[in-house]
Amino acid sequence: MTATGLLAAIADVGADRTRGGYSRHGFDRVELELREWFVAEAVKRGLSVETDRNGNIWAWWGNPGPDAVITGSHLDSVPGGGAFDGPLGVVSALAAVDVLRAKGFVPRRPIAVVVFVEEEGGRFGVPCLGSRLMTGAIDADKARALVDSDGVSLADAITAAGADPSTLGPDEEALARIGCFVELHVEQGRGLTVAVGVASSILAHGRWRFTFTGEGNHAGATLMGDRRDPMVPAASLVLAARKAAVGGARATVGRIVPIPGGTNVIPSQVDVWLDARAADDATTKSVVAEIQAMARLAASEEGCGVRITQESYGDTVVFDEVLRDDLSTVLGGVPALPTGAGHDAGILASRVPTAMLFVRNPTGVSHAPEEYAEPDDCEAGVAALATTLEHLAA
Ligand SMILES: [Zn+2]
Repeated sequence: MTATGLLAAIADVGADRTRGGYSRHGFDRVELELREWFVAEAVKRGLSVETDRNGNIWAWWGNPGPDAVITGSHLDSVPGGGAFDGPLGVVSALAAVDVLRAKGFVPRRPIAVVVFVEEEGGRFGVPCLGSRLMTGAIDADKARALVDSDGVSLADAITAAGADPSTLGPDEEALARIGCFVELHVEQGRGLTVAVGVASSILAHGRWRFTFTGEGNHAGATLMGDRRDPMVPAASLVLAARKAAVGGARATVGRIVPIPGGTNVIPSQVDVWLDARAADDATTKSVVAEIQAMARLAASEEGCGVRITQESYGDTVVFDEVLRDDLSTVLGGVPALPTGAGHDAGILASRVPTAMLFVRNPTGVSHAPEEYAEPDDCEAGVAALATTLEHLAA
């Protein structure tokens, strides 16, 4: 089966009629349907399927680990995301297994296809939740207490999905089986001029929540001079982010929630989420510090309060250079490029040799319905992943 054929099979699952694209989030009905679909595809291929203590799914070709060659990605999306970010890595892994089977390849090392849970943090706010839990990069109690926009906790969502949230936490057994991890992913900028490349590094990046508090009041009856309107410092924060992110740094406000959220109401509280990224830890932190200072000043000028919480953070990731160069050579000298996007591979890189393959994105649009990869490029990705697995598992 081709990668595009497999993607077509899930093309209707989680289509978002309001935002366009897909909304597929950890442990929601849509993601559970996708997980069931993946398990069925794995079983169809005779792979043995298991779900680990954090909800990540593993489909094994051969006896589970140690020294296994692992590939895979995620099936969840951002709200209104594209069809390729995540699922392309999963379907390409299945298709690569098909390619290797068809040519009679017998792996010497076990191979597994993994599906990580809630990679985008689209529901519970923390990206790469499944891999963070597995590596201990997030505390299990803190994770269980995360809530979605409806106030449902991760623990309750897992329970509702028929699983047990008490098992969340570091999974040394699962990690010990990984000899190396290679994640195939659609490239998310315009960095690739050929069909396939390998990743060199990931920017340092994090998410911060700013809670501005003021005085909720009437939009008509409250004179301008009498207001303590938290939307005003929230607006300043958006502009501060644009101003502070210079020299290759990125700072974005993609989500603002006013309370209560009425057209004729001065909000009593506004929550704003900042996503900031830069080449290294020090630059990222100084960009964020500058934005925080401007937000605090703007809040005090309006007589508002502000509470700032770091929701996630990951330092710069430099992928295993030996593995990267090895794969680049095996794939005929494909280019290596850095990425501004976070990935489960970036979390795993702190524990196991990790690499990524990128498939060209012709427009550079990602995290949006217009995200795209040409079918030929997707199949070139499958071929590259098959070559990679064959090389590593032989
Ligand atoms: Zn992704």
